[in-house]
Amino acid sequence: MLCWKCKESMEGLVCVSCSAIRPPPPKADYFEVFGLEKSYFLDAKAIRVAHLKLAKVLHPDRWRQSSAVERRMSKQWMALVNEGERVLNDPIARARYLATGSATVAERGVKMDSQFLETIFELQMRAMEDLDSVKAEAQSMLEACHHQLTGLFQHWEQEGGDLSEVEHTLGKIKYLNNLVNK
Ligand SMILES: [Zn+2]
Repeated sequence: MLCWKCKESMEGLVCVSCSAIRPPPPKADYFEVFGLEKSYFLDAKAIRVAHLKLAKVLHPDRWRQSSAVERRMSKQWMALVNEGERVLNDPIARARYLATGSATVAERGVKMDSQFLETIFELQMRAMEDLDSVKAEAQSMLEACHHQLTGLFQHWEQEGGDLSEVEHTLGKIKYLNNLVNK
């Protein structure tokens, strides 16, 4: 791309000709921004290192003496990079981001199957009498969901399996977490 300031061609986050900051992308791919492989199985340390590298270049402190435009861009960059770090570090947000391209739940929500909802309803009823056993049961269902999630991503990464079940599994995890944390 061409530098917005000096019109020379630029790569990376800072123009080598005039030291201008690259404008933050309107729709960023966090994996791309962090230079990480698009994977569910990320190493926490790799995320931290990538975040530090980005912050070193993009942090507003570094652009304090620059024009208002560049100061604003650096702030937008840091907001993006910090949100990226949050999403990549959180297994649930990361899974949703990989499966749907967004880290937040769609407005319409996720349609859960009625059988699952019935099970949850029964557990909620039973929880009023025997919370401990319900919690234990929900915990083991939760573990199964996490196991399923891992399987879906393994399959996706190794054989290009599809991720359409991910959101549904994340929905189950949310219900079960509520029970476990009762
Ligand atoms: Zn330039």
